[in-house]
Formats: sequence, structure tokens, C-alpha cells
Amino acid sequence: MARPITPGDPALATRLKREIRGEVLFDAASRGRYSTDASIYQIEPVGVVVPQTEDDALAAFRIAIEEGVPVLARGGGTSQCGQTVGAALVIDHSRHLDQVVAFDREARTVTVQPGVVLDQLNAYLRPHGLWYPVDVSTSAQATIGGMAGNNSCGSRSIHYGNMVHNVRAIDAVLADGSEYAFGEVPGDGGRVAGPTGYVELVKKIRAIAAREAEEIEHRVPKLLRRVGGYNLDMLSGEPFNMAHLLVGSEGTLAYSRCLHLNLSPLPKHKTLGVCHFPTFFKAMEAPRHIVKLAPVAVELVDRTMIGLARGNPAFRATVERCIKGDPDAILLVEFAGDDRDEQLRKLRQLVELMGELGFPGGVVEITDNALQRDLWDVRKAGLNIMMSMKGDGKPVSFI
Ligand SMILES: Cc1cc2nc3c(=O)[nH]c(=O)nc-3n(C[C@H](O)[C@H](O)[C@H](O)COP(=O)(O)OP(=O)(O)OC[C@H]3O[C@@H](n4cnc5c(N)ncnc54)[C@H](O)[C@@H]3O)c2cc1C
Repeated sequence: MARPITPGDPALATRLKREIRGEVLFDAASRGRYSTDASIYQIEPVGVVVPQTEDDALAAFRIAIEEGVPVLARGGGTSQCGQTVGAALVIDHSRHLDQVVAFDREARTVTVQPGVVLDQLNAYLRPHGLWYPVDVSTSAQATIGGMAGNNSCGSRSIHYGNMVHNVRAIDAVLADGSEYAFGEVPGDGGRVAGPTGYVELVKKIRAIAAREAEEIEHRVPKLLRRVGGYNLDMLSGEPFNMAHLLVGSEGTLAYSRCLHLNLSPLPKHKTLGVCHFPTFFKAMEAPRHIVKLAPVAVELVDRTMIGLARGNPAFRATVERCIKGDPDAILLVEFAGDDRDEQLRKLRQLVELMGELGFPGGVVEITDNALQRDLWDVRKAGLNIMMSMKGDGKPVSFI
């Protein structure tokens, strides 16, 4: 039986320090630091490893398996449901495992280590006219490993999809220490390439998917942004992608060593319609009509945030230019593509549609790129703006 391991376990710390090159943080202050993340939860870890290399991370992972200690992979730690706190050996990728490993401009693919931050990746891709389009609000902190872990989605996911739609393959390690390249597998009759263990795993998954097909069809909600639970519904298609089972599994199925991503071309032209509504519920009713115009983003901002942003000197000028009067809520509706006239035409259609919905004159049309960016920055700073609320009562962000 494995010996009980408590937070700060000296024997485990000594072994890790002996066998890996990265930082081994088992002291009380570090454990305190890593017992929190962006959620409201707090759990003290056994200890923390900050690997310097992929080999380091794998060595720490394998030592934890041998010692019977749970492993918790951590990127930016910005998840909101307590996913990156736990009584485990935390492996923090965000510091050193942040490299682009391979890039193919023609094929529009990139391979990255799990700790690459989204903004850094997109800064690397921008000169090539490409981007990774799962644009989470926390793009300055969120890592690709963490985004895959929780199947992140962004403002533009109605057009580009979530992580699960943009991850091509994952090189991952299972709890028994075996490492496989999880990727697309051919239809039922097709031969699966790879080591015996992987081929067996695919067979098992196929059998489960076939056995439970009816249940999956019946129970899994058909939503555009479904990020809760395992992506079992993605396994019924033929062919299917084994990596898609790992996306959204919160590190419970495997540890992602590196990730292969599909990229999208950066759209050349964008227009933004700021739709004003007298009540929150009317703003909530409108998107089902608006999406018929095929926007790439529809985002809601309510009265509280508009008011706080107006009161904030950093955002006031932008808000005054984009928001007129005293709406209860606004929707930011973005159109994007390579044809400028097409985006302008769609913006005009949005104006007409809002008139038909009973809100004539309810759209502020923004074609200036800089102003569009400024307004998206206000939306992105949402939580910070909410936290600027004056007085003792502060909003608590939780799920
Ligand atoms: C203000 C605010 C705004 C947000 N806005 C959005 C938003 O617009 N869209 C959205 O989807 N989310 C949003 N989030 C949630 C969160 O920021 C994002 O989901 C973000 O992409 C998570 O990235 P991360 O690097 O912080 O992941 P982490 O929180 O560090 O990890 C996420 C999960 O992935 C697992 N994981 C990490 N690395 C690995 C690995 N190598 N192998 C296996 N598993 C791994 C972790 O164990 C965890 O379960 C928001 C959060 C805040 C606080």
C-alpha cells in the first residue's frame, strides 16, 4: 500500500529535487500561493513542481505515479471552478514550457508546449496573417494546455468553435505512464496506426461509443458552446478524433505534453454594431434573430458594467463614443471577413433588423478599427471593471 503523503512531504520533495532540474516548491509559502486560483476555492497542494523542460515534467509525473500522489496540471490558473487547486502534486507549465515547437504556415498548423499563453501565440502568428481563434477574455494569462483542459471558448466561438473544434492532436501521457499521440482515427473498419496500447484504447473507446450511442444522443445537450463533461458526443462520428476526448477532460484522462492546433486566417476587415436595448430581457431575446446574419461575435454587456465603465477614466471616452443614452443592456455584434463591402452590408442589415425588432435607431455603427479594439478591451476588462465597484460589498465571481 502507498504510504500516506501530506502537504510538504519531505521525502517526496527530496526525491523530486534529486531527479528533476526544475523548481520543487514544497515550503508553506509556495503551498499557500498555489492553494488558490481564480476561483473561490482553496485547497493546499502536496507540493509544486515548476518543470524546466518537458522531460522534467514527465519525470515529475512518473515519480508522482510511483509514489501514489495525484497530479494536477496547471497553466495560468484562471479557471473559475477550482480545477487547479487540489491535494495533489501541482505541475505548473506557465513559467518554462511555453515554446512554439513547430509551425507550418501553408498547412495552417502549429505545435506548442502546454504553457504557451494565447496572446503570445497570436503575437507570433500575426506577421503570418494567421491566428488561433479561441479568444478567451483571459488571453493575456490563459495557456493552451489549460484552454484545452477546460475546453475554453471565446467571444468569436459562434464562428470558430471552442477548443475542441480547433485542436488537431495531443501528445499525452496516461496515468499508467504510457505516452501516445492522440489524433484522428479512421472510420470503424479502418486500421488505426500506433503502438498496441493505443490501438487497444481506440478499440475500447469505439466499443463504449457504440454501446452508449443512443444514451449519448438522448442526453448530451445540443448546444453551440457545450463545455461541461467529457466530449462523448464527438466520438460517434466516423472518423473521430481521440484528442477531442482529452479536450475538456480537465486533466482527468491524461496529461498533455504538447498540443497540435489548427489555425485560421486573420480576417482583413471587421465592422461592429453596438445594439442598444431598453431591457435586459429584450437583449437576451434578440440574438436568435441576429445570428441569422452570420456575425462572428455577439456579446452582452449589462447596465452595471456600462455604468462602472463610464465611471472609470480609462474607459469613459470609449463608452461615450459607442454607447448612447441609458440602455439597460447592449449587444456587441461583430462581422468579419476579407471583403470590406460585405462587412458594411451586414452592418446595414443589422440596423434594419433592429428596426424590425422594434428598436429603430438602436445601433451605433463602428467601422473604425481602433475604436472597435477599444470597445472590445472594455468588454475584456469586465471582471476588473466589476471589481472597481465602490464600497464594502464586492462582486464575487464563481461558478
Ligand atoms: C475574468 C475571467 C474571464 C474569463 N473569460 C473566459 C472566456 O471568455 N472563455 C472561457 O472559456 N473561459 C474564460 N475564463 C476561464 C479561464 O480563464 C479560461 O478558461 C482559460 O482559458 C483557462 O486557461 P488557464 O491556462 O488559466 O488554465 P488553468 O485554469 O490553469 O487549467 C484549466 C484546466 O486544464 C487543466 N490542464 C492545464 N494544463 C494541462 C495539461 N498540460 N494537461 C492536462 N490538463 C491540463 C487543469 O488541470 C485544469 O483542469 C475566464 C476567467 C476569468 C477569471
